[in-house]
Amino acid sequence: MNSNKLYINGQWVAPIKGGTFETINPADETLICQVAAASSEDIDTAVKAARSAFDKGHWPKTSGAERAVFLRKIADGIRAQRKPLAELEVKDNGKPLTEALADMDDSAGCFDFYADLAEKLDSNQEYPLSLGDTRFKTKIRKEPIGVAGAIIPWNYPLLMAAWKVAPALAAGCCMVLKPSELTPLTALKLAEIADMAGLPAGVLNVLTGLGKDAGAPLAEHPDVDKLAFTGSVPTGSRIMAAAARDIKNISLELGGKSPFIVFADSDIEQAVEWVMFGIFFNQGQVCSATSRVLVERPLYEKLLACIAQQAAKITIGNGIQEDTLLGPIVNKSQYDKVLAAIEKGKQQNARLVCGGKRPAGFDKGYFVEPTVFADVPEDSFIWNEEIFGPVVAIRPFDSEEEAVQSANHSRFGLGAAVMSKDSMRCERVARALRAGIVWINCSQPTFTEAPWGGYKQSGIGRELGEWGLNNYLETKQITRYNSDEPWGWYIK
Ligand code: NAD
Repeated sequence: MNSNKLYINGQWVAPIKGGTFETINPADETLICQVAAASSEDIDTAVKAARSAFDKGHWPKTSGAERAVFLRKIADGIRAQRKPLAELEVKDNGKPLTEALADMDDSAGCFDFYADLAEKLDSNQEYPLSLGDTRFKTKIRKEPIGVAGAIIPWNYPLLMAAWKVAPALAAGCCMVLKPSELTPLTALKLAEIADMAGLPAGVLNVLTGLGKDAGAPLAEHPDVDKLAFTGSVPTGSRIMAAAARDIKNISLELGGKSPFIVFADSDIEQAVEWVMFGIFFNQGQVCSATSRVLVERPLYEKLLACIAQQAAKITIGNGIQEDTLLGPIVNKSQYDKVLAAIEKGKQQNARLVCGGKRPAGFDKGYFVEPTVFADVPEDSFIWNEEIFGPVVAIRPFDSEEEAVQSANHSRFGLGAAVMSKDSMRCERVARALRAGIVWINCSQPTFTEAPWGGYKQSGIGRELGEWGLNNYLETKQITRYNSDEPWGWYIK
């Protein structure tokens, strides 16, 4: 594997300054390999390659159908290596293998989905617009935005790459992708797969590196037309500031503290299952994790007891073992942050129902027990801040109005969920929740067809679906004077 090289202009090249960084297996703290660390000079070379592929190359002029062929080949390439790719993701990220396999399927599916949209673009790339003034004829044309930069996080390494690379290529853009330094390996595999698919040189460039040394120069590069970022709010804010200088088009998918409102008429088993799925999946390292749960008082203590009982049964271990349901946190620094948040929860008078520490019998690896806090004060750290770990904060409520108000009282607005047997109530609450994604009677299922993104500080813009493609398209109007009559303004 080309972990010590960068993929620039269709070639595997060593970083100009020769830097490297380590990637670690969070399950046993062993070194997986050294990875090439790109510097601003490498980023500049890659952006120039993408610029040249866009400005002088054939790629943006290809039909959507032609681009779809490449996208489907990439999808097939991912499927052909499904198991080894999933195993690599487990090593690099720590997630359970079953989840990693599902991520590989979703990543391949994402490329297929945008292959379909690329084909459809051929028939709706241009369309007429009727005007009140019949002397003019206008048509609307969608065109690729140009060179796109993508900076992605570590929680879904290949899938987050797919969410950006697939629509960008479908639109006819050229891209420079910088994966997270915590999980760089499957993005390099993606470059290999794209290379094997015969993608023209410069259309996709993949550069591993640190945020400040490689991410920042990409965000600041004047030749990048569009910057797509997924990650934390502080970094998103820096990226937005960098993009402001050149008025770069940006889309931001940031953090969350998503609420889940459970009414007392809910089926208790379903409620337990979805609350757990909403926070323990991927070790809770999910931007839309429903980490704040509001439970109607009559169900409150019973639900807490059932969740504690089920959480104790979750198999914790190295993700590579097939029965593992909860793997380690991605690295030492995130692990320390999760444990510190748990300590704050205890200090700020939340009631620890279960978990709250490193599980017994684990000497190595960044493991944290599934942790449930009840009676969490509304002004406490764990009720308001994203923990990004398997830690759920729960509170009781007495009225629908109170629940909605509490759910909306957040600077985030990515996901939200509501559960009740009363369908009208679910609809009413879904409308009242200030979030980009609202789940009714479930939490977390994500579909490539549907828009993904947040209100408030959870981001700007939407990924996935047709919205994802539009992220990488400009809208042009072409207006023709279509009359034989002289215009007659200056010359009468
Ligand atoms: P992060 O912001 O630390 O890093 C994200 C990426 O930005 C990495 O590739 C990193 O190298 C790069 N980066 C860091 N500093 C940079 C800088 N100054 N300039 C440019 N790039 C820089 O976030 P993370 O810890 O990797 O990811 C966790 C966060 O991502 C969480 O807050 C989570 O909610 C969010 N997230 C959001 C979504 C979503 O769809 N909204 C999805 C996944 C993760």
